[in-house]
Amino acid sequence: MSASHVAVELLRASAECLSLRLAVLPEIAAFANGAKPALRFVVSPSDATRLHAAATRLRLDVRTKPIFLSSKGNGWNEIVSGPTESSQELIVITRDNSAGRLLDAELIDAVEAGLLLGYPECCVRALSGIAAAADQWALHLLENANKPINARLNRFAAEWGGIGLIGELFPCSLHCAAAACYAQSLYNSAISLGLCRLAEAAKSDALASVSVSPLGRISRAKAKGTVEFYW
Ligand SMILES: [Zn+2]
Repeated sequence: MSASHVAVELLRASAECLSLRLAVLPEIAAFANGAKPALRFVVSPSDATRLHAAATRLRLDVRTKPIFLSSKGNGWNEIVSGPTESSQELIVITRDNSAGRLLDAELIDAVEAGLLLGYPECCVRALSGIAAAADQWALHLLENANKPINARLNRFAAEWGGIGLIGELFPCSLHCAAAACYAQSLYNSAISLGLCRLAEAAKSDALASVSVSPLGRISRAKAKGTVEFYW
């Protein structure tokens, strides 16, 4: 199974998934290219069915589980056991047979889940601090940031519907070298698969100025934002 074939099949299925965030597209390229060991999405049940079928056709290991999300605001969601208004499907896809382990970890051990997803260990171990900030996560990250910020670490683009290059990873800081390296590997994977338009659109979104309000609300800045990025 060639990397291009995996990328085309998964991206074709993703194109029909209205509940899938654009930010995951470079992650799919990196997974197809062998630069990322696993994928994890939270999508609607019908989109989970589409992605499950595509992964099965590619003979990948894939698992799904119904979950309930509790929105804390400003893009921060928590998985909870009780029914909420937002019932979704958690889907994980791996190349080896670790999908079951990843699915279990997603629900009980965020550190193991992050490591199985190929995230840098420093970022995975810092996630509890970001989770404690909940809807204030953007302000928490900006507290100790150098300005401007490396566009590779722009986790805010995903929140205004942009692509960006860091996928769903929360960097431990806005100057984390390991997270920048991870994001670069997503960009490089898209380029090496010939997905140059995806790579450039992701880079363009990552460079777009962002406004973060005093309450932590993230939006794409119309003119000069409160957060600027460099490449
Ligand atoms: Zn880090």
